[in-house]
Amino acid sequence: MHKHCAESDSTVEYCGIRELGTRFYMWVFGHPVVEEEELSVGEVEEKVYWAGDEGFRAGHSTIFNTITLNQAVLDPLDDRITNYVFLHEYGHTTVPWPLRMLFYAVWLTTVVGIFGAVFVVLTAIAEFLIGQSSLVAVAGRVVGTLIGAFLFGFVGYTFVRADELWADYVALQNLGVEEFKAIHEERESRDRDVSLLLKIHFWLSYPKPETVIRISEYRD
Ligand SMILES: [Zn+2]
Repeated sequence: MHKHCAESDSTVEYCGIRELGTRFYMWVFGHPVVEEEELSVGEVEEKVYWAGDEGFRAGHSTIFNTITLNQAVLDPLDDRITNYVFLHEYGHTTVPWPLRMLFYAVWLTTVVGIFGAVFVVLTAIAEFLIGQSSLVAVAGRVVGTLIGAFLFGFVGYTFVRADELWADYVALQNLGVEEFKAIHEERESRDRDVSLLLKIHFWLSYPKPETVIRISEYRD
């Protein structure tokens, strides 16, 4: 279970490190924390670090297992959306720490691997253009690299999907099916005008709400 700060000396220290870490992390990524709040929705009570800036993310759970929310995105919206995003991010923080670290390692490897693949492909094409390699050799390298990148991406996104599925499952457990459905319908109509790249990312990363509902029905 999660620890409340100020329960004992050791948790105070533990919370202090998490707080400093969260603030530093958000600052490094350009979303400095502007406010802290103890948020409670239903049975769940957790500290939330609010960032104030623009950006597409409504919420995020950090490597310190803390929850951050975005004022610029969430303030204009219904409180129900904030509740959902809060519970979803809380869901991420309930994954055991070693598993989360494994998740980050896989995800980082995927990102580095895909950047590496782009580099290899561009180099191969450049070598062909300046006449240093034959077409067959270049084609072989490009195809091989693309297959590798695809496999990397597949493993990475499988981890992301499993993590997102779990987070949404936790949100559903706390909201109930009807509220969960209603919130997702509202969110989907809002996401209609995001960029194509974001749409692809959403499509690859997030499970369909119906899938989450089916899993919860199956488990109950
Ligand atoms: Zn998530």
